[in-house]
Amino acid sequence: MNYYSTNNRNVKVSLREAVIQGLAPDNGLYMPESIPILPAFFFQSLQRLSFQEIGFEVAKSLIGNDIPESELKRIVDHTIQFDAPLVEIENDIFSLELFHGPTLAFKDFGARFLSGLLGYFASQQDKEITILVATSGDTGSAVANGFFNVPGTKVIVLYPSGKVSDIQEKQFTTLGGNITALEIDGTFDDCQRLVKQAFTDDDLKQKHFLTSANSINIARLIPQSFYYFNAFSQLKERQKSVVFSVPSGNFGNVTAGLIAKRMGLPIQQFIAATNQNDIVPAYLRTKLFSPRPSVQTISNAMDVGNPSNFARMLDLYQHDFDGLLKDITGFHYSDEETNDAMRSIFKSKNYTLDPHGAIGYLGLKDYFRTHSNTVGIFLETAHPAKFDKVVQRAIESEVKMPARLQEFMGLTKKSIRMRSDFEYLREFLVGL
Ligand SMILES: *Cc1c(COP(=O)(O)O)cnc(C)c1O
Repeated sequence: MNYYSTNNRNVKVSLREAVIQGLAPDNGLYMPESIPILPAFFFQSLQRLSFQEIGFEVAKSLIGNDIPESELKRIVDHTIQFDAPLVEIENDIFSLELFHGPTLAFKDFGARFLSGLLGYFASQQDKEITILVATSGDTGSAVANGFFNVPGTKVIVLYPSGKVSDIQEKQFTTLGGNITALEIDGTFDDCQRLVKQAFTDDDLKQKHFLTSANSINIARLIPQSFYYFNAFSQLKERQKSVVFSVPSGNFGNVTAGLIAKRMGLPIQQFIAATNQNDIVPAYLRTKLFSPRPSVQTISNAMDVGNPSNFARMLDLYQHDFDGLLKDITGFHYSDEETNDAMRSIFKSKNYTLDPHGAIGYLGLKDYFRTHSNTVGIFLETAHPAKFDKVVQRAIESEVKMPARLQEFMGLTKKSIRMRSDFEYLREFLVGL
């Protein structure tokens, strides 16, 4: 399978190039050249297949024979090391729990698939692959845990000192081995600037095989389509239509769902649910795409003012607004509504939502006002313990920390403190 840039369909590269480059040279995002419809027997056997088997079939059709089947199978198995159960919390409303991975958020799927692919590409060459990643918290932990002990790869995480939560910091500073954490005296933007500068330094590029684990990487998107199929396979109800509500920031999750639909999964409708950063719901209402600086909310992983995957959504529909509108409905919610949803579901159903999942839940409730005979699934994108302060305040009760999160808290942080001038990073990378 070749991948083209959303800025120019005639620019095509191999899987290896698309994954190593991340962003196309013309700043477009890579898309698979074709999105095959899966055969009828796949859908007929869906309920008998394991999550890993489903993932393999989906991955194979989006990747083709760019890598040997046995390797792809190994990579999918490495990606899916944990479940994504459907939990019915109200009549016909299900929570798709995507937080059972090592860092308790759906980003584990993308990070693990990317690490598997880069590990494979590293095994095909002499040079080790060095992954530079700037993080404000979550990406660093998912990427560090995804690449931990993957042969032929080395990860350098840059993060702003004092500006990530304790638990996030522990998740990428305690692993050791092939993971190094650089604690930068500066902001997240400084970290991002340093990474960008490293990619433009010819000496460094000569010495190291540098790549990034940027969230727009097509390898992070592909595995996110797996769980739509797997969620569908878990539904017992076959008579009603199925809608997915996706709490959205950069719109990677929704895009992966739209790809699953394009591959033949019978999804009636997607709900793009956002916080006050409602760029895409506003677009669906007005046809005007107006990015603006993001505002801070309690669902902060979705505080995005210029959603990067919007280009992929438009591309999937060949810029046909009406086509897009047929498949996606937009809703947005305030922090107060989010808090109320967390509180009321906890009180009435004894189920703890995280602030992002709460927005997905609200999207379904709104949609159900005008649609009946429908089953709704919302993506619960993170474990509530990741946002324990916000959740505890909303539900007025303790949030239990899962054992695997607790384990990290007991480990010792190891980081290299560094000033935010490029010369220090350069010196460090030269000496690596
Ligand atoms: C990243 C993230 C989101 C947003 O997902 P997109 O694919 O960027 O729309 C939602 N919830 C949580 C917890 C996240 O970490």
